[in-house]
Amino acid sequence: MRKITLSNGKTVEVECLSCALTSGSVEPDGGVIVETEHFHAHQDVAYPIEGLVIIASKRHIKCLDELTDEERLDYINTMAKIRKAQREVLGIDYVYYFYNEDTTHHFHTWLVPRYEWMREFGRSVESLRPVLLHARNHRNTVVNHQKVMSSIGALRNALQ
Ligand SMILES: [Zn+2]
Repeated sequence: MRKITLSNGKTVEVECLSCALTSGSVEPDGGVIVETEHFHAHQDVAYPIEGLVIIASKRHIKCLDELTDEERLDYINTMAKIRKAQREVLGIDYVYYFYNEDTTHHFHTWLVPRYEWMREFGRSVESLRPVLLHARNHRNTVVNHQKVMSSIGALRNALQ
């Protein structure tokens, strides 16, 4: 078991945070954005970026080639639906996708929307970590938190 501190400051002891989130034993702040047979999408509100979505498999696997044919189809279709909703309800023009197989959790992909304020951190892959850290350390305001919560609701409604 590992002790993990969640974005709301609570500490949970879990084997795998992705398993805990996708099984519902840990409820993400803001709740579930969309859930399918094989995938579960939520936001990590520790990074107050409107429309940031994490899509995790329900099965405890690490690598893309471990997905079954059915899971692959569900994965790409669900991700595309989320992407469409980000565009239609939040006006997001571009999204960066990030996924690492050597995760300490399990298979999950980050969908990180691109906003004007991120320009100062450069483009493409090198900007991702600085952008996330900047959001967490400098944009964690009450107002931004409210915006994030309402964007979660808007995405959830659009994906119903
Ligand atoms: Zn897991």
